[in-house]
Amino acid sequence: MRIRSKLPEVGTTIFTVMSALATEHGAINLSQGFPDYPCDPALLDALAEAARAGHNQYAPMAGLPALRQAIAAKHGLQHGITLDSETEITVTAGATQALYTAIATVLHPGDEAIVLDPSYDSYAPAILAQGARPVHVALAAPDFAVDWAAVEAAVSPRTRLVIINNPNNPATSVMTAPDLDALAAIAERHDLLVLADEVYEHLVFDGLRHHSVLAHERLRARSFAVYSFGKTFHATGWKIGYCVAPPAPTAEFRKLHQFLVFSVNTPGQHALAAHLGEPARWQGLANDFQRRRDLLAPGLAAAGFHLLPSRGTYFQLADYSAIRPDLDDLAFARWLTLEHGVASIPVSAFYRNPPPGQRVVRFCFAKQDATLRQAIDRLEGVRR
Ligand code: PMP
Ligand code: GLN
Repeated sequence: MRIRSKLPEVGTTIFTVMSALATEHGAINLSQGFPDYPCDPALLDALAEAARAGHNQYAPMAGLPALRQAIAAKHGLQHGITLDSETEITVTAGATQALYTAIATVLHPGDEAIVLDPSYDSYAPAILAQGARPVHVALAAPDFAVDWAAVEAAVSPRTRLVIINNPNNPATSVMTAPDLDALAAIAERHDLLVLADEVYEHLVFDGLRHHSVLAHERLRARSFAVYSFGKTFHATGWKIGYCVAPPAPTAEFRKLHQFLVFSVNTPGQHALAAHLGEPARWQGLANDFQRRRDLLAPGLAAAGFHLLPSRGTYFQLADYSAIRPDLDDLAFARWLTLEHGVASIPVSAFYRNPPPGQRVVRFCFAKQDATLRQAIDRLEGVRR
């Protein structure tokens, strides 16, 4: 029996491919973005306690009320805003499900959504699966600043949604307040919704600030904002995140959510509700990651990479033209994994049309110091 594929051009994600290659060849895995150190023992204790206390049956469809209240309180502290935990917050199975559900909520067949490339790999397939069309607007290295005139030029009568990722994986760029004003003006002029992937909200470096759509009154009124506890609490395997949107879009979002997952892991939600209550646990994360960035960066530079600025997320982009200009980035990432035992991600995987001749790979620095040092030692061999 043949199935007509909804995603004929989609294969296995580059993260899965590179992590498997790293495992197969015993390479240090700086490819897929996940920490290699444990999460806070208090979070693990809270999980065990919740399970032992018998919180092992279905959670409410929209999420545990205590967790939604804790999320509302967190955003209140961060941005001085009031969120209604009943009508504006939905707990999801990670940010990936929140993104997919928001996209499926908004887009009908024939609709268009604007995606800024390089873009996280799940956006375009989720759009295509709705019978809608991703319209890609490219951002240029090294700063990957958004050309808002180009974004507006890409709007058509079929455009419904603009997707932003701030801070941006893999560009590592961070939007400014004028960026959000420009986006709001375009969204209002063309009556568009915004999907803001803010999973790296806490990872902004060098004294820069994260500007959330939730703190921007005009954008908040027309945005789905998506978050991931996997990123914030170093627990990517828990797959718990959430989506914030005004009551009407949230009601539509939940209609799909209830048939995609119905509800999300109950003991995990209890543990996160308890854990979030202590702001020190999520404040100040950036300092720790900036330190890790600054540990890896000189090692990459010494190996001959030219570093692009890393302003946010837990990734470092590196241009390898001075090392192996003959290889495209997929070939280079394979070569570095096999020959030098360090795995990275080729950045062309994040583009519809990769810029010709761009020679850039992405390294994840959410790793123990010992792992980063070992990677640096191995990369010393690249120069020889
Ligand atoms: N958005 C971006 C930009 C990401 O990098 C990731 C992966 N960490 C996700 C969404 C998915 O998050 P989750 O693991 O919570 O599904
Ligand atoms: N977000 C992670 C990254 O960017 C990957 C998550 C995944 O494998 N889907 O590396």
